[in-house]
Amino acid sequence: MPVKPIIKGKLPGPKAKAWVVRDTKVLSPSYTRDQPLVVDRGRGVWLWDVDGNKFLDMNAGIAVCSTGHSHPKVVSAIKRQAEKFLHMSGTDFYYEPEIQVAEKLARVSPTARPAKSFLCNSGAEAVECAIKLARYKTKRPLMLGFLGGFHGRTMGALSVTGSKAAQRRGFSPLTPSTTHVPFANCRRCVFNLKFPSCNFQCVKFIEDEIFRTILPPEDCAAMVVEPIQGEGGYVVPPPGYFQELRKLCDKYGILLVLDEVQSGVGRTGKWWGVDHWNVKPDIITSAKGLASGMPLGACIAPASVMTWPPGSHGSTFGGNPVSCAAASATLDLIEGGLMKNAERQGIVLMEALKILEARHRQIGWVQGKGLMVGAEIVKDKSTNAPDPAFRDALVQRCFQMGLLILGAGRSALRFAPPLVINKSEVGEAVSILDDAFTHLSRKSR
Ligand code: PLP
Repeated sequence: MPVKPIIKGKLPGPKAKAWVVRDTKVLSPSYTRDQPLVVDRGRGVWLWDVDGNKFLDMNAGIAVCSTGHSHPKVVSAIKRQAEKFLHMSGTDFYYEPEIQVAEKLARVSPTARPAKSFLCNSGAEAVECAIKLARYKTKRPLMLGFLGGFHGRTMGALSVTGSKAAQRRGFSPLTPSTTHVPFANCRRCVFNLKFPSCNFQCVKFIEDEIFRTILPPEDCAAMVVEPIQGEGGYVVPPPGYFQELRKLCDKYGILLVLDEVQSGVGRTGKWWGVDHWNVKPDIITSAKGLASGMPLGACIAPASVMTWPPGSHGSTFGGNPVSCAAASATLDLIEGGLMKNAERQGIVLMEALKILEARHRQIGWVQGKGLMVGAEIVKDKSTNAPDPAFRDALVQRCFQMGLLILGAGRSALRFAPPLVINKSEVGEAVSILDDAFTHLSRKSR
């Protein structure tokens, strides 16, 4: 298959335009549709819109279509299960696909073993489950979240979220008693310090200031944190950070909840983002790439933590058998080579973006792990001042050229392609981005 997008004219085309008009009349205006992409079909890393334009997808439906669009093995697992039965509430009955997924997750969980899973429908639900489980287990009421962290839109998950004011505006009061602290965002350190001479001031701050003043640690059930901040701008913390958080949690009996909804299931080249730092979390959450696009979330914890009794938590649709069949096929593909490919292509992507960084003064830095990579767009490298307007212009220009990328945080470009991507597809994506930089820089001169 040729590795170039095919765009037939100015986007959106006539059919897409008409669908967008219909959509606007009947769908919630809360959705954030940055580009008028009306999808018709997909295969691997390629998407076709309703006008027949062909796009290279570096988003994977926001880090969801881990095995690529409509991977034949995932599709046939879905078909096989759909022919047998579509639903039989996993809260009330037993069925093989749900047990098989939980067995696979138990085998690869970064928590202490044996591990158990609660299966649900989404990332936010997995986080809700983690919050409830942490409260139930510790009998403590309070939570600690991180500025820049994103955990979902339901009330509990939104309460630990600290990403964008727009996500919270108008919705207070949220679940009370969540305190947010700065994440280890070393490029824009709120303490104005440098790693490693900072000596993890951001962790010391939690103990010395937050625990001493507004969050008594013996009342804190859990610390909820992403291994790599996703929505917050693809922020990778420095080595040793999670060990410090682990020590703090151990000292005060606080559960360490790692939200792996975006970073998990092989995306970073390892099963879980936290695997890069050799730390054992007490609870993890998963969703997004877990079932290649079918709705499935999981909250995974050691059996010694997941001790709640029958009736304490459940979900009618959670652990849907068709989603579980898709997840089993997905996990097999991840283990059977895609995780390795994520590591390999992640290096290719990072190297190519570093070359762009040297060429374009608007790229402040590039950071990431595997195929979870962000490029920060700045006004000027010496100040690191974010340039969201230029970032947005790049996203739009790339779209017109057939490359789908999204922003994250204030001014990062995020790369979260399907894990089936190959070297020439990575090269094509970076070359289109390079052209977009050149075009926009010329225009702004
Ligand atoms: N947690 C993280 C780290 C996420 O990135 C997201 C979604 O972007 C969520 C939770 C919420 O997932 P969902 O949109 O499936 O509810």
